[in-house]
Amino acid sequence: MAAVHGSCLCGGITVEIHGKPDTVMQCYCDHCQMNASAPFQIVAKYDKSQVIVQTGEDLVKHYIVTNTASGQPKHKVFCSSCGCTLWTIPMKYGDANRFVRVSLIEDGLKNLKPDQVLFGERKDT
Ligand SMILES: [Zn+2]
Ligand SMILES: [Zn+2]
Repeated sequence: MAAVHGSCLCGGITVEIHGKPDTVMQCYCDHCQMNASAPFQIVAKYDKSQVIVQTGEDLVKHYIVTNTASGQPKHKVFCSSCGCTLWTIPMKYGDANRFVRVSLIEDGLKNLKPDQVLFGERKDT
């Protein structure tokens, strides 16, 4: 499968993603709601090796969320120029994965449809 490209809001950080995600999740947790200003956020789970930062490595910053449901820290990786969150790294998997926001991937919202719902009990909160 050909690589797809993605970027943050300002375009300072660009990424190339190889292959298909393991799963695409529609997550209703409070962190996703706060970050998306929507009932849920859609993220695609990739192996770390599938997501290659092409430009803007120097703009990449991590914010570490510690009050997580799993009790393990979760890194919110964002662009320090435009503030856009690119992906999350749940450390319960030990830096193995990148949960990439599908809206930042070219045709992501069209091609990457959720196959899993997380924290669905919070749908109406
Ligand atoms: Zn940016
Ligand atoms: Zn979430």
